[in-house]
Amino acid sequence: MSQSVTVIGLGPMGQAMAAAYLDRGYEVTVWNRTPSRADALVARGAALAASPEEALRANQLVILSLIDYDAMYTAFKGAEEAVAGRVLVNLSSDVPEKARAAADWVAGHGGTHLTGGVLSPPPGIGSPDMSTFYSGPREAYETYRADLEVITGRTDYRGEDPGRAALMYQLNMVIFWPAMLAYWQAVALAGAHGISASEIAPYAVDNYAGMGQFIDFYAPRIDAGNHAGDVDRVSMGVASMEHVVHTNADAGVDTAFPAAVLDAFRRAAAAGRGADSFSSMVELLREPAA
Ligand code: NDP
Repeated sequence: MSQSVTVIGLGPMGQAMAAAYLDRGYEVTVWNRTPSRADALVARGAALAASPEEALRANQLVILSLIDYDAMYTAFKGAEEAVAGRVLVNLSSDVPEKARAAADWVAGHGGTHLTGGVLSPPPGIGSPDMSTFYSGPREAYETYRADLEVITGRTDYRGEDPGRAALMYQLNMVIFWPAMLAYWQAVALAGAHGISASEIAPYAVDNYAGMGQFIDFYAPRIDAGNHAGDVDRVSMGVASMEHVVHTNADAGVDTAFPAAVLDAFRRAAAAGRGADSFSSMVELLREPAA
């Protein structure tokens, strides 16, 4: 346990993290490119570092919450020597390769890099129920585990590869963004018929809650290479997605997103998978057309 921490980057996430540490009685040093975003934290007792170098030197444990990994290099330009001896927990999201390169860069300057991927919006920071992926040196993770559990009560260590936590985070985003866009699509379509977002909310919640059963059913079948069309078929998906596209078009709603889904179903059917389960779309995605 450290009881003293630096937080660099004060967007909604970094602000929530710094506040969570203040709540637990930590001495908190913060730095942000736009200093005014630290005002509320300073009013609560956080120390505002005058520079990234000062922020780095203030503590051994340094949390980064920046827009992406490139922002770290920009922020630390000229302050590289201060990285030595610090443990940088990088909770900025980015691609796995950037996380691996950053781990090398930090090690090259004598520091330790832990990659993180936070599965919580800002209001969930500090909650015991939220979770964060970590990867990188196990020793650093174990040493600071209790401090990291201040950010989210649950931590999910995914091994030494610095890219792995970033990948696990990306896997969640691959699901999250299109799933939410599907909901916005339904809201737009409902709205075109005078139905409010709140009115369809319970149906959407049930729909998403039911997704778990589909995933549990299909995952072992996919791993076994079983795409039998005994419960559903790609050809049924083609017909259903045609109805979805037409219903949106008839209402004057944008059809780009459902049309892209329909296109994928049609390509699977054209590849001879019409009688297979729609889980066979995975095979289509594994081998994209050149
Ligand atoms: P914001 O975009 O609000 O904040 C980004 C931070 O990066 C700000 O402090 C900003 O400084 C700083 N920054 C951007 N560019 C530079 C730069 N070139 N040099 C120095 N600092 C820079 O993001 P959030 O707080 O919402 O998110 C932070 C990270 O957490 C992101 O990687 C995001 O993907 C991830 N995340 C966000 C979630 C969310 O719900 N918001 C959920 C899970 C993860 P300034 O204030 O000066 O602009």
